[in-house]
Amino acid sequence: AYVVAEPCIRCKYTDCVEVCPVDCFYEGPNFLVIHPDECIDCGACEPACPTKAIFPEESLPAKWNEYVQLNADLCKVW
Ligand code: SF4
Repeated sequence: AYVVAEPCIRCKYTDCVEVCPVDCFYEGPNFLVIHPDECIDCGACEPACPTKAIFPEESLPAKWNEYVQLNADLCKVW
C-alpha cells in the first residue's frame, strides 16, 4: 500500500483525495492517511501530492517508518 508521511502534516491540499479511484484517504488529526487494506496501489496519488508526502511502502524513507503504522491506526480511529 501507499503511505502518507510527515510532509502532509498541516497540508491544505486535497489533490490526492480527488485522484484516488477507491476513496481510501481518511482524515487524521492534522494530516491525511491511506487505508492500507483499501489502497489498490494504483500510484495516482503520488505525483498529485504537492508536498511529496506519499510513497509506496517499499520506498518510504526510513526516517518515516513509523508512518506505516500511523496510517493503519489513524484511518480506523478518526
Ligand atoms: Fe488511492 Fe491509488 Fe494512492 Fe492507493 S495508490 S491511495 S488507491 S490513489
